[in-house]
Amino acid sequence: MSEYNREQSEAIVLVRRHLKTLSPSGLAELKTRIRNYVRFRKEADQFLQDYFSQICTQKCYQDHYSACCSREGITTFFADVVINVLISSAEEIDRLLRVLSLPGLGTKCVYLGKRGCIWRIKPIVCEMFLCEHARKTLFDKDPSALKEWQRLKRREKRYTWPDRPVLFDDLETCFIRAGYSSSLMYFHNSPGLLRVKSSASKKSR
Ligand code: SF4
Repeated sequence: MSEYNREQSEAIVLVRRHLKTLSPSGLAELKTRIRNYVRFRKEADQFLQDYFSQICTQKCYQDHYSACCSREGITTFFADVVINVLISSAEEIDRLLRVLSLPGLGTKCVYLGKRGCIWRIKPIVCEMFLCEHARKTLFDKDPSALKEWQRLKRREKRYTWPDRPVLFDDLETCFIRAGYSSSLMYFHNSPGLLRVKSSASKKSR
């Protein structure tokens, strides 16, 4: 198993194990915390379907025409894992673990199945990535779509950009307090994100 697959797999197993120890009210509380984010993701998904389903075809993934999904080792945040384990069925999580245990071909993302991404809610990095071809094809001729996309990007930041308390940081903290650690906890171990947090806290003093 590659280092990437091992880290991904460990994070999924860890999250699943911890969630099983929570009381029904503890679990319900976590689900409430992610509710607005899940709503945001549904809206982002709808936008992408409405505007990009014709441009981003399966053929594009298969032919490696674009960068998305044909890259190995896509960045996933620990919170991406938590949110997915919270809203996915046991079978869906088993499937993620199964593909991670297979020897990789190294030509595409390990999570790319025959019918697209196998995550229930794909990692935020993937959702908010548009290749140059897709951007130019749509935004050059539809400024209102570009405005809508920029609005979605601003909303994304409210969950993921830690110059203020954000969900992605909070979810990591919640697991750290419970005694867990994972290399996917970038909000607690990435120098770049730690810098954003520290300069935001200096400004607020
Ligand atoms: S995680 Fe899903 S959306 Fe992201 S690159 Fe892999 S297959 Fe594509």
